[in-house]
Amino acid sequence: MNTWSTVVRSSKFKAVLVSAGCSLALLSACLTTQTTSGGAVGVDRQQFVGMVSSEDMVASSAKAYSQELAKAQQAGKLNNDPQLVARVRNIAKRLIPQTAVFRPDAPSWKWEVNVITSDQVNAWCMAGGKIAFYTGLITKLNLTDDEIAAVMGHEIAHALREHARERVSQQMATSLGVNLISAGLGLGTIGRDLTGMVANVTISLPYGRKHETESDRIGVELAARAGYDPRAAITLWEKMASKAGGSAPELLSTHPAPETRMRDLEDYSARVAPLYQQARRAG
Ligand SMILES: [Zn+2]
Repeated sequence: MNTWSTVVRSSKFKAVLVSAGCSLALLSACLTTQTTSGGAVGVDRQQFVGMVSSEDMVASSAKAYSQELAKAQQAGKLNNDPQLVARVRNIAKRLIPQTAVFRPDAPSWKWEVNVITSDQVNAWCMAGGKIAFYTGLITKLNLTDDEIAAVMGHEIAHALREHARERVSQQMATSLGVNLISAGLGLGTIGRDLTGMVANVTISLPYGRKHETESDRIGVELAARAGYDPRAAITLWEKMASKAGGSAPELLSTHPAPETRMRDLEDYSARVAPLYQQARRAG
């Protein structure tokens, strides 16, 4: 069965498109978009995100984030070491204003940055700027500030590019969307499941190769513009590769292949080196 044409034929789905100002002729234009500008690194790819709105993703992420924090709090794992938390938050404070290059709305997102006490080598950023860093990442890999900025820039890039929304849209367009629509339910019903899906695609499932490469490239630019050495992304992923054992899916991701990733990071950190020099001179 061609699931996509089933979705398109569904009258409910047509109603959604019409209310969103789409005609079927403009279908693909309506459902795909570029979530960011290209920046100096020139990220350029049409993204299929049309099955769920940005607003719904942000609202569901806020809910999923509070749930994660509450879980950590109950387990006594919400880290409150003032020095460590301040260190991570100060790096975020320098990176966040740089997001304007990729999307003007991002600096005014409701950003939150928290540290979770855990042996896991892990970090993530949910839609709308909800960031978590795990102590295992920082201590096991003995990260420098430049390397923390490299991971954070990478994670922020996933949120800027709305990669989670893209993955949720893909999931909906395949199985879940077809099931709900054929069961005669409106797309609004999906809202109840969205919080779980958001947590799942952000925390548990590894991102694919395309998403990783885009985040690597945007990440080095954010770091460079904030005055962090973009070449730290290279040492970071080297450390990650040698200690991959305890890594979470997002950071353990086997795509891109390590050699390809290193070559790409060498290339792109060199391209943004002038931005780094400029930020250092200004700072
Ligand atoms: Zn990633």
